[in-house]
Amino acid sequence: MNTSLTLLNKTLHLVRYPQQSQHPSWQAWDAADEYLMEYVEQQIDSANKQAMRIYNDDFGALACWFASYNPKWISDSYVARRACLLNLQHNHGSDAPLEMFDSVTPVIGKTDLVLLKIPKTNALLEQQLIDLQSSVSATTLIVAAAKANLIQKSTLALFEKYLGVTTTSLAKKKARLIFCRASGDKQHTSPYPTTWYTTQPSLQVTNLANVFARQQLDIGARFMLQHLNAMGNTNQQCVIDLGCGNGVLGLHILHQYPKTKLIFIDESYMAIASAKHNVQLNLPQSLEPCEFMVNNCLDNFAQACQHDEVDHVVCNPPFHQQNTITDHIAWQMFKDSKAALKKGGQLWVVGNRHLDYPKKLKHLFGNVTIAATDKKFSLWSAQKA
Ligand code: SAM
Repeated sequence: MNTSLTLLNKTLHLVRYPQQSQHPSWQAWDAADEYLMEYVEQQIDSANKQAMRIYNDDFGALACWFASYNPKWISDSYVARRACLLNLQHNHGSDAPLEMFDSVTPVIGKTDLVLLKIPKTNALLEQQLIDLQSSVSATTLIVAAAKANLIQKSTLALFEKYLGVTTTSLAKKKARLIFCRASGDKQHTSPYPTTWYTTQPSLQVTNLANVFARQQLDIGARFMLQHLNAMGNTNQQCVIDLGCGNGVLGLHILHQYPKTKLIFIDESYMAIASAKHNVQLNLPQSLEPCEFMVNNCLDNFAQACQHDEVDHVVCNPPFHQQNTITDHIAWQMFKDSKAALKKGGQLWVVGNRHLDYPKKLKHLFGNVTIAATDKKFSLWSAQKA
């Protein structure tokens, strides 16, 4: 991994999180970060860099670069937060001069300068622009950055609609900047959360803006739900919904077996807030023994969680870290599940049948069976010996 960013006579040491299992060609910043750093350093006076906010900083490169301005740092990603803390420690020691906010906590106060990396999900961008409406005035400048191909007309239209007049830069190393001068008088309300319903059982699934399968049930999740009975009766047992998103898998288990102790885990704050809301809404009587954790896979699980021995883990694994397609998170989820499960406990994984999950699972667990399969998906079960 290239960990050394040198720009404008300044060098930062930056790593991705978790450091192990990252591809050697990946790095913790991109051309859009560099463009943004250069622009702000060279074109914006120090006086206008006060009350700075940073949104969606993938691994903390922007936080480290602009740390001396004491920015407010906002992200929906626990992994980004861990990376940011690690990189601040590397570059600024224990003196981390910025306030961190998750995506579900309102950020109070006015801002003069907003630096924003365009997120993968348009809905998250939309929610953040709406949130900003109450913090900007006619003097606030928003500078956003992304790979040029992520900036569509519809992206610019969101800035115009929710904040004010918007223009763009030329492309540089395939990255572009967006400049938006807030008008300070917009008061649009948010279209999020979005809600959809499952049938048989009929459950209401509410989704904050950055939640996976925000608009409808994922087809992989649907396949797993059709075969959940393979797990048997989970009452009095402990089940982890790993990478839970809106919690739809755990919710169905709880509906069928209300005395299950369910632990919902995701790296997205919006996912965990949505999963909790969905249990509260549909199965309030089952809420009390449930736990809801923001985490990177099952990092420090034993220390962080008051749990009985884990009987099952259900998992519809992710394919992305930020904008990078990867299977290293799925791999970590499988390894961590093995460590958390009790002897005889089972990991249930759904995925496209062409994926090499069975090979990985066999390597780890030895004992892997196909619980169900169709033309597109398989549900694998791996048992801890
Ligand atoms: N279980 C939900 C479903 O079936 O609709 C969501 C499945 S989605 C394919 C994968 C989920 O993993 C996403 O909600 C994503 O936020 C979460 N995720 C991604 N990276 C993660 C990590 N490092 N640790 C925990 N969860 C992660």
